[in-house]
Amino acid sequence: MPQPTPVITPAPTPTPTSAPTAAPPDEPGKVVLAEGFYYHELNDDLKARITGKSYPADAEDCRISYDDLRYIKLLYFDFDGKTHEGELIVHALLADEVTEIFHELYKGHYPLASVRLVDDFGADDDLSMEANNTSAFNYRQVEGSKSLSLHSFGAAVDVNPFFNPFVEKRRVSPESAAAFADRSHEFAGKIDKNDLCYKLFTERGWTWGGHWRSYQDYHHFQKDLGFDRQT
Ligand SMILES: [Zn+2]
Repeated sequence: MPQPTPVITPAPTPTPTSAPTAAPPDEPGKVVLAEGFYYHELNDDLKARITGKSYPADAEDCRISYDDLRYIKLLYFDFDGKTHEGELIVHALLADEVTEIFHELYKGHYPLASVRLVDDFGADDDLSMEANNTSAFNYRQVEGSKSLSLHSFGAAVDVNPFFNPFVEKRRVSPESAAAFADRSHEFAGKIDKNDLCYKLFTERGWTWGGHWRSYQDYHHFQKDLGFDRQT
């Protein structure tokens, strides 16, 4: 019986490609928690981006060095369920847990309106809050006080601040968020004791501003590692 002639399929000619471009070197101190969730030290571009905005132009005025800060990249869902890339700057000692918290929020489909550096709003807290922007590092004093806010050390995070405003008696900040000062209603992104965001921060030892007596800062979480806050 004649053997069938074997059919030889020629190997496809490889498509010529341009010379491979070398992958950029990893950022110094890069730590990857999960795909899309990592942090690293502040590079020169980031230092230029924040200096004179969230970071004082005169380093002598500043109680925290660039080396003590970390830049976090993360993913989040917006209120329409779409995924976006977000960014935060926090204290180096809190970078692991903040990255972890935002990874848990992402896994829980927790909605966030915007997660950009406050520098994109000229380091103006009011503008960032009006944009419902979630942010952390900003070298500034506590409103109406001489002591430094824990945001100055990257040890405070504000989450969806328009939906969770600052309330002191009748004063609401941002003013345009007055409708959200009434905490008796349920709505997406509302932070209260049953909220995932509340749970993730407080179980890691963070304090929630919504529990404070003289005023409530419903968007604010902080972890005081013993910073010198006097100015
Ligand atoms: Zn805050």
